[in-house]
Amino acid sequence: MDASALAYDAKGLVTVVVQDRLTGEVRMLAHANEDAIRATMTSGEGHFWSRSRGAPWKKGETSGHVLRVHEVWADCDRDAVVYLVDPEGPSCHTGAQSCFFERAMGGVEGRALPMLVRLEDALEARANSSAEKSYTKSLLEKGAPKIVAKIREEADELSRAIESESDERVVSEAADVLYHVMVGLLHRRVPLRAVLAELAKRFGTSGHDEKASRTGSA
Ligand code: AMP
Ligand code: ZN
Ligand code: ZN
Ligand code: ZN
Repeated sequence: MDASALAYDAKGLVTVVVQDRLTGEVRMLAHANEDAIRATMTSGEGHFWSRSRGAPWKKGETSGHVLRVHEVWADCDRDAVVYLVDPEGPSCHTGAQSCFFERAMGGVEGRALPMLVRLEDALEARANSSAEKSYTKSLLEKGAPKIVAKIREEADELSRAIESESDERVVSEAADVLYHVMVGLLHRRVPLRAVLAELAKRFGTSGHDEKASRTGSA
């Protein structure tokens, strides 16, 4: 789709939602005119129109916190788009990772994040808290032997559930596996984002081709 195909409003603007292409985190909301959309599409970096300054704006111009735009999607009536990005650094001018850090309704703890990244956030907080009885903390303190024993145990339980148990059991055991994998990643300080990036890299190639192209894969 060409930049001219969008439904710009009377002021020549569309609304832009900026979302992390891997974690799904909503980073910011801004506006763009046709020039900004075109600049984004040709440069692969997030361009906007600043309504407060009445001027074109490339995110990161002064902060260096640019948005590498992988995909642009228009909504049903083409008056809004979403930029799917790899963000460089925080996206809010306050220094926050996302502009959406003020809880207005619902939620209990943490930040406005999709579930798995929210879990990662919560586990990290748990690891660094002084709370006495945290299962996560005790796993991390016992270290690799305990964590990998749990991953193996839960993977085995999930396998049996998939084979011959109820959907409820599959859901519960899959959640156990995901949780313990997240603890394993935290133990190794490997961000979930890196795992999602690996999945994204494989996405689009057929399973067989991808596997054949990897070396040393089982
Ligand atoms: P930057 O584009 O990050 O170099 O920031 C330059 C200026 O753009 C800031 O001083 C703000 O006025 C504005 N700005 C940066 N990030 C945001 C944002 N997420 N939402 C609205 N305005 C922003
Ligand atoms: Zn719309
Ligand atoms: Zn902000
Ligand atoms: Zn289990």
